[in-house]
Amino acid sequence: MLERVFGLMTVVFLFVGCAKMRTEPWPAAIVSISGFSSEEETSVRSALTDLNQSSGKIALLVEGESAKSAFPISISKREPPPDAPNRAGLSTFDEIHCAIEISPKVFTVTYQSYLKSVIWHEVGHCGGLVHTTKLGALMYPTTEPFFDYSKGDLSDFLAALFSAAGLK
Ligand SMILES: [Zn+2]
Repeated sequence: MLERVFGLMTVVFLFVGCAKMRTEPWPAAIVSISGFSSEEETSVRSALTDLNQSSGKIALLVEGESAKSAFPISISKREPPPDAPNRAGLSTFDEIHCAIEISPKVFTVTYQSYLKSVIWHEVGHCGGLVHTTKLGALMYPTTEPFFDYSKGDLSDFLAALFSAAGLK
């Protein structure tokens, strides 16, 4: 049985909830995906489009067809700092953009089943969600393989994200 080894720490510039200062509601636009191999990038894009498809709404503009007013999100692969080696992802955001970093470890054979969980969690932060104390929820500070989340956990997450992000 796998231990939950990934910390999903979050740094929030300014103050918590500042994403609500956005004047435009989502959909957000994925404006760059950088630092990944082509195979990794395919997996990242798949996780993003799955979020749209799972919800039946366009929360994320993934293919570059973004409106100018869309909230911009960038995603890159970056090794976490030595003091946080198990950090799977990081979101840094303010009212005008959100930057997501994904650890290379999430693309290893051992942890690739965590990738979608990590991407959705970090997108959640970009939308203004904070961590929950509810064990097993997608916004819990540590993560699980995606298939371990229940349908209820996922629909709760999507509803909270759309509410926080102002998506109609
Ligand atoms: Zn987090």
